[in-house]
Amino acid sequence: MPIVTCQNPICREFFNADACKLNIGQDKYCSRRCYNIVRWGSAEQRFWQCLIRCEHEQWCLYCCWLWIGTKNKKGYGILSVDGTPCLAHRYAWKLLHGYSIPDTLAGAHYCHTPACCNAAHIHPATTQENNAESYNAGRYVSGERNGSSKLTEHDITEILALRKQGLSQREIAEKYSVHQTTIHYLLRGRNWGHVLQQSLTS
Ligand SMILES: [Zn+2]
Ligand SMILES: [Zn+2]
Ligand SMILES: [Zn+2]
Repeated sequence: MPIVTCQNPICREFFNADACKLNIGQDKYCSRRCYNIVRWGSAEQRFWQCLIRCEHEQWCLYCCWLWIGTKNKKGYGILSVDGTPCLAHRYAWKLLHGYSIPDTLAGAHYCHTPACCNAAHIHPATTQENNAESYNAGRYVSGERNGSSKLTEHDITEILALRKQGLSQREIAEKYSVHQTTIHYLLRGRNWGHVLQQSLTS
């Protein structure tokens, strides 16, 4: 197998390429990740492209920066980072602070605008705090369901988002009236990849 250089200019790692694929102009990148970066831009580039910003200072305290890319049902921006759908406002916080909001905490908005990705408007909060704030803002959506415990693809997309927002498996299970192990296997499983794809493109 020929050893070639990854064509992603910020990677340039050597890797073993498939000689047949090389001959037909494929296998230019060491990984899917490098292919995506060159093809679609880095996550950070795509993040800024999907925002309407004001012309004030970096991370303006006053204006909301609205996400114009893909959103989930609740209106939160979704950004693909290394092939995984991430909530854009949590990504914004990571850009500003240099580290992620812990998985156990929600990324709460001071401005109560889910599509806002101005990190100056976002703070980590426990799920209870976040729910209380949302409730106070009059936007609380009840998780009540009528009997059925079968999860639809739509639910799964939502559950993945909730998990990223910091809800525990138990809290999610209660919300959807299913057993906690159902959520556990769902989150561990790989057979919902097509749902993830949909959540990125819909
Ligand atoms: Zn590479
Ligand atoms: Zn501003
Ligand atoms: Zn805002």
